[in-house]
Amino acid sequence: MKAVGYAAPSSTSKLEPFSFERREPRPEDVVIDILFCGICHSDIHTARDEWSGTAYPNVPGHEIIGRVSAVGEKVSRFKVGDRVGVGCMVDSCRHCGSCCEGLEQYCENGFTGTYNSDDKIGGTAHPSTFGGYSNKITVDERFVLSIPENLDPAASAPLLCAGITTYSPLKQWNVGPGQKVGIIGLGGLGHMGVKLAHAMGAHVVMITTSPEKGEDASKLGADEVLISTDRAAMKAAQSSFDFLLNTIPVGHDTQPYMELLKRDGTMVIVGAVEPLKRVDGVSLIFNRRRLAGSLIGGIAETQEMLDFCGEHNITCDIEMIDIKAVNEAYDRTVKGDVKYRFVIDIASLES
Ligand code: NAP
Ligand code: ZN
Ligand code: ZN
Repeated sequence: MKAVGYAAPSSTSKLEPFSFERREPRPEDVVIDILFCGICHSDIHTARDEWSGTAYPNVPGHEIIGRVSAVGEKVSRFKVGDRVGVGCMVDSCRHCGSCCEGLEQYCENGFTGTYNSDDKIGGTAHPSTFGGYSNKITVDERFVLSIPENLDPAASAPLLCAGITTYSPLKQWNVGPGQKVGIIGLGGLGHMGVKLAHAMGAHVVMITTSPEKGEDASKLGADEVLISTDRAAMKAAQSSFDFLLNTIPVGHDTQPYMELLKRDGTMVIVGAVEPLKRVDGVSLIFNRRRLAGSLIGGIAETQEMLDFCGEHNITCDIEMIDIKAVNEAYDRTVKGDVKYRFVIDIASLES
């Protein structure tokens, strides 16, 4: 099947139009006409080879919303016309301990990422998977999600990565009423963290380097704003948080944030997929504080998050762009200049 999209030809080039193949559907596959795709900071890290190991050309995009256009004969959960989503994974081994527990993101044999992964199913001339900056995709139905029809489809796209990456640790650490929760870094992930923690009943504090984002606090569901560059405010907030979700996209000194935790509090790192610059043992030991990490979420949990968002009417705050503006959107995202997620209108590919 012919497909068109945008690809990065190398780590230093801009993304540009690209034609490629998608596999014909196998009996358990769903073919999706893509409508919208969010721009996750991970797309940028990958397109620019900041984590090394990117295969080129690279078609990023793992916040995919579309309509089913064809189904294989064994597909039981979807039919033509259904509104569906695809997130960061399109396959996993399905038999290891993690897969059997519904934790495909921790597959012991390595899950297949939606882009830049070795495509174990194959069926095309390309060895790597290609993501959602494209007009169609073929995915095994086990990795396809249902999108509640009451949610705006474009504003739902970032739920597929930003939504589940924040929902999963908030659930895992039982965030809820009576807790003071800080969300660090107000980008795509962070603003979803604020909305979800608020819906779970916590007292939510936005922790940001951008004072102007603080103006959106009540609209997003935050009870307070803490400007992390304000040393006096950070000192005044020391030892007051039960839980912190840290979405900062680069390695950084964790100590100013760890100091915010109460005894027995936990900070979960989801942003820095790279070495952290400083972790202070004294501060951990003397307050029994915990530093942890979390990777996206499993397929069943992603569906649970989507249903939760459907019930609570939660979507993302987005800036919709034409695909021709993708390179500019990358630069703006790196500068933290996005409220709060860019979403590509895939219809703009046609023109
Ligand atoms: P994003 O939209 O760029 O948001 C990151 C935010 O962090 C920025 O808007 C900014 O917010 C703050 N920030 C940026 N640089 C900073 C710095 N040097 N120091 C302090 N704060 C800084 O990124 P995203 O799409 O939310 O993704 C965040 C990170 O999570 C990326 O690295 C991405 O690769 C990673 N990620 C991880 C997973 C996972 O499974 N663990 C899944 C998806 C993405 P303020 O203006 O509010 O300060
Ligand atoms: Zn992502
Ligand atoms: Zn597995």
